[in-house]
Amino acid sequence: MKNEIVKIGKLLYDKDLTSATSGNISIRSGNKVYITATGTALGFLSEKDVVEIDMDGKEFNSNEKASSEKFMHLAIYKLRPDLKAIIHCHSPFTTAFAACRKELAAPIIAENILYFGKIPVADYGMPSSQQLTDNTSKLFADYDTVLMANHGIVAAGETLKKAFFKLETAETYAKTYVYSKIIDGQILLDGKDLDDLKELRIKLHSK
Ligand SMILES: [Zn+2]
Repeated sequence: MKNEIVKIGKLLYDKDLTSATSGNISIRSGNKVYITATGTALGFLSEKDVVEIDMDGKEFNSNEKASSEKFMHLAIYKLRPDLKAIIHCHSPFTTAFAACRKELAAPIIAENILYFGKIPVADYGMPSSQQLTDNTSKLFADYDTVLMANHGIVAAGETLKKAFFKLETAETYAKTYVYSKIIDGQILLDGKDLDDLKELRIKLHSK
C-alpha cells in the first residue's frame, strides 16, 4: 500500500500534475489510513514518508507527522465508505479553474460528460482549516472530483489508480477547454446530443 502511494506520487510529478512539496495522497484500509507525511515532495517519496493514522487522525508507528490536510481526507472517507483512495494536488490547468472559481462543466467533450457530469468548485477555506475540510468534503456526497476555490483539486476513487485516472482526466479536460478557447471555435454539445449523454451517464452510474 505504501509502495503504491510512492509510485503514484512519482507519476503525478512526472506528468506535471504536482510540484515541489504541494499535495497529498492517501489510501484507506478498514479503519486505518495511509497518508503522505507533511512537507514531503510527492515526486520523491519513499515508504517512510507514508504515515499510518486512525480515523480520528492520530498517527501510530511513525515519527513523521501526517499531512496537514488529513482531516479533509478523513471527512471524505467517513462520508463515502465506497471511496478508498484520495489524491489532492495543485495540477496547473484544473487549479487555474479553481483560481477563477469556475466549475468544469462546459459540454465540450462527450466522454467528460459521461465520466464526470461536471466538476464543481468548493467554497474557499484556509489550507488545513476546518472550513476547508467542511466546504470540500460535503461536495463528495454527489461528486468524486472537486475543485477547491483558490487552491487546487481533490479526486477520490475505489482504488488509488482510479483516483489518479480521475485527476488526470480532469486535468486533460481543463487543458482541452483552454486550448479550444485559444483556437476560438468551441462548439458546445446541446439539445438531443447532450440529453442522450446525460441519460447514458445515469444508466452507467446506476449499475
Ligand atoms: Zn493543497
